[in-house]
Amino acid sequence: MRTHLGSLRLAQLVQELSRLPGIGQKSATRIALHLLEGDAEAARALSEAILEMKAHVHPCRRCGAIAEEDECELCRDPRRDPHSLCVVGQPTDIFSMERAAVFRGRYHVLGGLLSPLEGVDPSDLRLAELELRVRAEAVREVVLALAGTVEGEATALFVARMLTGHPVSVTRLATGIPVGGDLEYVDEVTLERAFAGRRPLG
Ligand SMILES: [Zn+2]
Repeated sequence: MRTHLGSLRLAQLVQELSRLPGIGQKSATRIALHLLEGDAEAARALSEAILEMKAHVHPCRRCGAIAEEDECELCRDPRRDPHSLCVVGQPTDIFSMERAAVFRGRYHVLGGLLSPLEGVDPSDLRLAELELRVRAEAVREVVLALAGTVEGEATALFVARMLTGHPVSVTRLATGIPVGGDLEYVDEVTLERAFAGRRPLG
């Protein structure tokens, strides 16, 4: 552990912070010093917010999105069409779709994308849950909103094949999603166009 900071406790906080995504050693040190110089109340509020989130926020039992109740707000919203499902990789992809405001159905979060290279196989994703929902909720349309990567492509094909034989149309967002692009970085207009141009699969 680096001790040039003059305090093991400070060094420990810097180490914890530098594990966060996008935070390097330098930023971690700056944040830690900021917390050290700030008042105790602000530091307490931050640590409490983290603990509260860990205690009360979990995946939605139905769709896998972020929820505080058993089911998320979108799953509980009676105005959303239960027969139309949008399949995404990560819960954050739902924010992108909702920002574009083109989809009025419900979501299903896979929890990742298929990747033989990284050892992510079908059993690691919420694919069985998806098939179950398609049957149990009489889903008529499945829209695949997956990244334009090799992993996104492989996952889309797998889902299309898995749902063959179910009375459901499977489409995939088409134009505009850049090859290699994550949904997170696609602007609303592009996403809106991609949604309108979704094409059948399988
Ligand atoms: Zn949900």
